Amino acid sequence: MQLPREVIVGVNILDRVGEICTKQGFHGTALVVSGPITYPLAGVGVAKSATKAGLRVEHIIVKESTEASLNQIVQMIKKTKPSIVLAVGGGKDIDLGKLASAKASIPFMSIPTAASHDGIASPYASIKGGPKPYSIRAQAPIAIIGDIGVIADSPYDLLAAGCGDIVAKYSAVKDWQLAHKLKNEYYGDYAAELALMSAELVTKNSKEIIERSKEGVRTVVEALISCGVAMSIAGSSRPCSGAEHLFSHALDIVAGETSLHGGRTGVGAIMCAYLHGSNWESIREFLQEIGAPSSAKELKVSPEQVVKALTMAHSLRPERYTILGETGVTEGAAEKVARATGVIG
Ligand SMILES: [Zn+2]
Repeated sequence: MQLPREVIVGVNILDRVGEICTKQGFHGTALVVSGPITYPLAGVGVAKSATKAGLRVEHIIVKESTEASLNQIVQMIKKTKPSIVLAVGGGKDIDLGKLASAKASIPFMSIPTAASHDGIASPYASIKGGPKPYSIRAQAPIAIIGDIGVIADSPYDLLAAGCGDIVAKYSAVKDWQLAHKLKNEYYGDYAAELALMSAELVTKNSKEIIERSKEGVRTVVEALISCGVAMSIAGSSRPCSGAEHLFSHALDIVAGETSLHGGRTGVGAIMCAYLHGSNWESIREFLQEIGAPSSAKELKVSPEQVVKALTMAHSLRPERYTILGETGVTEGAAEKVARATGVIG
């Protein structure tokens, strides 16, 4: 079980990064991994804080989530020999920092500038053109620094997508329970409850989330961190990733990146909850209330692409048993689910 040693969520806390580094025993060089927008936004502040604490700071700005960017960071690690990687930015920057540091066997700190998915705290990461169409195991962050002020200033769509990734836990846990019953797969109550608690927390606090109040943003960030910790405890992404995630990955293949991961898993959760015979209406209502996508149109994909993604989702990860079964759903059944849940008109 790999868990973060320190989790700090608060306002204006980027200047504490340096102090946390030295407290955790990191000296010498720190490498800041960031994006072209997130570096001036938060990376510079993080670098200043680390410098002030006596660390030598190097930085690398990566534009895309690709194998080439990943290799660039790994090369930079080899060259600068940091004791820690400080991954500052959105989901892609965090994932790249996470994967590169894991490859180089050094720890990393997660400093998210947006709350768009649970990768900010989990040991899993994905890159475009990677070995698998889903997230692979890397390592859990040694510390997570969630600056509410910075995250509240990020585009609202990102926060809404984060909520989509969190309500997806309702169907993910159902799939895990199903796999436990039918396939005798290990099931961890504690990890499952932690994931479900996150989903309950955000659905209960929709008003604060819409208002983007500090409390609302904090709720989403803390829920995402709990999801990451649930995966660390389970030793797999099971509590947080079921058929709705397979649907999202299938849609990435079928339609490309027209919408965010969290938005896609939210829509997937509506349809998967329907298949499970559970309360899909409340998931849909919540997503609509907070302004997250709940339809093909809002995901900027066609009805045909939704149907196609649903029919192929089961095949992406055959060892992950879900409500889609071993053979998946037929085209006719997929269309019926998407129509019945209002995902397609
Ligand atoms: Zn996710």
